[in-house]
Amino acid sequence: MSLHIPFDNSYARLPAGFFAAQAPVPVRAPSLIAFNHALAEELQIRGVDDPDLALLLSGNGVPAGASPLAQNYAGHQFGQFNPQLGDGRAVLLGEVVDRNGQRRDIQLKGSGPTPFARRGDGRSWLGPVLREYVVSEAMHALGVPTTRALAATRTGEEVIRERPLPGAVLTRVAASHIRVGTFQAFAARQDYDSLQTLFDYTQGRHYPEAHTPADMLGEVCDRQTRLVAQWMSLGFIHGVMNTDNCTLSGETIDYGPCAFLDAYHSEKRFSSIDRFGRYAYAAQADIILWNMAQLATALVPLVGDEDKAIKDFTEIIHASADTLRAEWTRRFAAKLGISEPETGDGALISDLLGLMQSGGSDFTNTFRALAEGDARDQIADRDGFDAWHARWRERIAGEPEAEALMQRSSPVLIPRNHRIEEMIAASVSGDDALFHRLNAALARPFEAVADYEDLRRPPTKQEEVTATFCGT
Ligand code: AMP
Ligand code: MG
Repeated sequence: MSLHIPFDNSYARLPAGFFAAQAPVPVRAPSLIAFNHALAEELQIRGVDDPDLALLLSGNGVPAGASPLAQNYAGHQFGQFNPQLGDGRAVLLGEVVDRNGQRRDIQLKGSGPTPFARRGDGRSWLGPVLREYVVSEAMHALGVPTTRALAATRTGEEVIRERPLPGAVLTRVAASHIRVGTFQAFAARQDYDSLQTLFDYTQGRHYPEAHTPADMLGEVCDRQTRLVAQWMSLGFIHGVMNTDNCTLSGETIDYGPCAFLDAYHSEKRFSSIDRFGRYAYAAQADIILWNMAQLATALVPLVGDEDKAIKDFTEIIHASADTLRAEWTRRFAAKLGISEPETGDGALISDLLGLMQSGGSDFTNTFRALAEGDARDQIADRDGFDAWHARWRERIAGEPEAEALMQRSSPVLIPRNHRIEEMIAASVSGDDALFHRLNAALARPFEAVADYEDLRRPPTKQEEVTATFCGT
């Protein structure tokens, strides 16, 4: 049976300035590394035993019903506005309406240059493709809103980075690829007709209840601040929270230089290009509000009364700072077994984090050890821990479900940086066993499984990943 993807492509019906029609550029010798059957079923894709599956997912041919295009967008990169970014190495094949009635994008990433490629080659090497596959699927299993990975293919071609590396294509699925930067692209050009069209499209697709720009801004702020609080509760550092990597849907997108904390430190950053720590672990809480302020600025022209718009939008951004703080407290309180945070719980959380930071405790293992009944070994300052522990026991005395709550809030497994690097190195030399093992283990991150005990171990000094790189 041949591949059948039930495309229904609404973005391709938008006006010309929204995209450039662009077919993926064929590659020499495509071969499939992984195909996500469960996700394919969700998307109602049929005929996945098609012998041409690898060809169709690496851009050698276009699946029936697709209308491939590169999306236009702008964005602030490290605070600098770039009016022209766009999909330089990705094409949207089209959309499907999934089993739950939700519209989802299917995109190829690394599928060749587009009119927005500037000086780039439009390609991706194997490392970023496998990293995104593993981490985005792990995030999904951890319960985090995220883009998904449908497939990864080798291209059979080399891409030239610092050295020649194997090329690959990721098939990514997203609620949509509309970014803060998509709104900024039209606002910057003062193309307010297109801006209105984009607003209407986004409203129809993601926020049917939001009737005004203020309504929608409030909803996006709500989703994005909750998302960042959830990232922080898992020790996740996105690494490149540019406004073009910030979705309107509230999904996590772009897993380039992302990393998870090993030892806890609030100022930890990994990305080699994040020199000033703009996107460091704790800075994420401020940066998401900055990004939301950029969205607000782009939406102002859609409101007749500019002064009123600025006043209303400013209030919304300020209120989202409160949402974020409350959501952060709720998430971390849950990791301590507290179902409804009260005044004083913030200090209980911060004091534990302080102990963890001064002794370099492993973030994931400390919280999980707490959930499993003994975290004393995780904290260097034993006296400090004992004093904290007594306060904490007293606080959760009346919480009947504390243990269960903690165990579903603090995972056993995360995609540890050194395991990702180890996996990439193996796959570059042609062995995908570690890639498949990581995917299998991370599918159930809240369960302690004997076979995956080794994946709980923090890195040794030699194994520790100190820098990550953009997915280019
Ligand atoms: P990213 O850092 O992945 O969010 O990408 C930022 C911008 O650079 C986007 O416009 C990408 O399409 C573009 N880009 C990144 N890598 C490449 C590449 N290899 N070829 C063409 N464009 C690229
Ligand atoms: Mg990006």
